[in-house]
Amino acid sequence: MSISVESSVNPEITDIPVRVADIRRGFERGITRPFAWRREQLSALDRLLEDNHIEIEEAVYADLHKPRLESFITEIKGVRSEIKTVLKNLKKWTGRRSIPFAPAVMSQGFIQREPLGTVLVIAPWNYPVNLLLSPVVGAIAAGNAVVMKPSELAPRTSALIARLVAKYLDGRAVTVVEGGISETTELLSLAWDHIFYTGNGTVGRIVLKAAAEHFTPVTLELGGKTPAWVDPSADIATAANWLAWGKFLNTGQTCVAPDYVLTTPAVQPKLIEALQKEITAFYGTDPRSSPDYGRIINDRHHDRLTVLLEGADIAIGGQVARDDRFIAPTVLRDVRVTDPAMHEEIFGPILPIITVDEVDEAIAVVNRGDKPLSMYLFSTDQMPIDSFLTRTSSGSVAINASLIQNGIAALPFGGVGASGMGSYHGEQSVRTFSHERSVVKKVTWLPNLVKFTHPPFTSKKEKQ
Ligand code: NAD
Repeated sequence: MSISVESSVNPEITDIPVRVADIRRGFERGITRPFAWRREQLSALDRLLEDNHIEIEEAVYADLHKPRLESFITEIKGVRSEIKTVLKNLKKWTGRRSIPFAPAVMSQGFIQREPLGTVLVIAPWNYPVNLLLSPVVGAIAAGNAVVMKPSELAPRTSALIARLVAKYLDGRAVTVVEGGISETTELLSLAWDHIFYTGNGTVGRIVLKAAAEHFTPVTLELGGKTPAWVDPSADIATAANWLAWGKFLNTGQTCVAPDYVLTTPAVQPKLIEALQKEITAFYGTDPRSSPDYGRIINDRHHDRLTVLLEGADIAIGGQVARDDRFIAPTVLRDVRVTDPAMHEEIFGPILPIITVDEVDEAIAVVNRGDKPLSMYLFSTDQMPIDSFLTRTSSGSVAINASLIQNGIAALPFGGVGASGMGSYHGEQSVRTFSHERSVVKKVTWLPNLVKFTHPPFTSKKEKQ
């Protein structure tokens, strides 16, 4: 029996170049450039979220078992507040910015942010709405045409967003391409004016290589092992509150979740006791039955996380149930840097505690790994805070809190080194999706004073 090659090719994949070419034509026709179009599309995106938030929350629940209110806050409200900020500042952030008159060349200059063109936004499953639509806000604000690729690991959300985007936004310049590795591979083979990718570093490398073929600029929002330092001077109850929230929100499947804790042997038992109090306050004594506690995205990740518990000293939690992909909020004590939990990003509800004798030793632990996406410092003493700020690097830092850096539009959000390149949020999103074009206009009513730079280079000119 012979099987034709054509019959095994997904027809939707062969459509992708045609669909992308349509969107590119929309950009080339100038549809996306007018200020009014950008404003109108951002308002439409806001309406999409307002009108359909319940359906979206249900889809995210079906994919991730994420509590409805948690979705409302982290998925819907997060993007809507980004839209609000961008709309408020749209004129200022996209208009011309004059530079001081340059007397040496008798010229007036300005910087014009212009759209890059047709951009691709590839999103992961863990915040399947927010991490897809937040970058899109910046892309539209900057006047680009956009193709979005949601994660196939959150299929209900992906299908819903594809349907809603087609209904609310201008299909001539904004579209969703659904699918998995094959569809993304096809998308990456095409030429783009920018690729904005959020996800793991292995795929980040694939994206970077594909982009190099076309000299395409990229933003890579990746992950890593975000450390937390709990200083002996810290308020332990406050530290435990922020750590438990940051770690167990979305069942630990948050890129900026505290990955592990560094503290001293004396603080460790007090911190464990305080974490136990917070976990019980959040999820009761049986987190499996709590409506506020989520599940692991799939069996593969559940199995990967379960292995990290083998042979570990479990201080809190540790219960797992594969049939509903449950892993209890878990804290591990006396973890060594060589233990499996310290090999790669955990991305689940397991919090290892490593004890060190002093700040210098904690800094050495942080610096032996890749530069992390974030860092959390709990201390009432300025000295250890300054030591971390001057002797380590990370995408962002929050002091005496966790995750809040994400919600401040004036702070660029992004990684450094292995945790990513480029950043976004607020004005930084507009900058990311724009080219800053330098324009200079020489006054014509004065003789050209710079003539002395033109040949012939006579000795008289040397004296000028
Ligand atoms: P994922 O598996 O959903 O992948 C992300 C995207 O990459 C998806 O759209 C998927 O289709 C695509 N993809 C997957 N394999 C591919 C391949 N071989 N070729 C081309 N495209 C491919 O999500 P994930 O990577 O598991 O997400 C979790 C990771 O993302 C964690 O490391 C986390 O820290 C990181 N993350 C970072 C941020 C951030 O803002 N920096 C936010 C969320 C997640």
